[in-house]
Amino acid sequence: MAERVFERLTASEGYQGKRYQLRSIIQMEKKATYKMERGKLEEARLDQLERRRKLRKYGLGEGKRFFHVWLSSERLGLSGKLDLLIETSQGLFPVDFKWTSAEPHRNHLFRLAGYALLVEENHGRPASTGFIHLIPKEDAVVIEITEALKKECLTKLDEIRRMISNEQLPDPTPFRNRCVDCEYRNYCRDIF
Ligand code: SF4
Repeated sequence: MAERVFERLTASEGYQGKRYQLRSIIQMEKKATYKMERGKLEEARLDQLERRRKLRKYGLGEGKRFFHVWLSSERLGLSGKLDLLIETSQGLFPVDFKWTSAEPHRNHLFRLAGYALLVEENHGRPASTGFIHLIPKEDAVVIEITEALKKECLTKLDEIRRMISNEQLPDPTPFRNRCVDCEYRNYCRDIF
């Protein structure tokens, strides 16, 4: 249950929100798309790359790195597997990998904020900065995880829970190009 809630949280805005709502209500298995599979492969390759040189420009090269960290919190009602957690004397830094060259969308920030909340809950240390690693560009975007962002993230989560409870689907995305490789397109009766 908690895992699905976090998946909804990660996509609390826009088209992904609809995907996770659909998944929750239809109770179906998520179909792996080419994009997702490719992302996994790249992630495996990046495990090695990260150890060698990535993130050194942020002064994190000496930090301990933990890949694919499972985090959960009964209190928050969340759980999820974080791609990478970096631990330094200054704090904890969640890193989320993305198979895109585009700048992160708002829903990506919520996802990272959700991980930061889980990291803080699980480790008892602040996680006020995180990174979104853009795999194709081999670049990382620094995200300041402010109290306001975390609060907004929790508010979105409550909204999504309310919609699920009411069996209410959000509107389909106005950006049809996002439907092309959506793993839920076969179930999305608003569009297909
Ligand atoms: S097919 Fe399009 S509208 Fe439907 S869930 Fe996927 S992205 Fe959203």
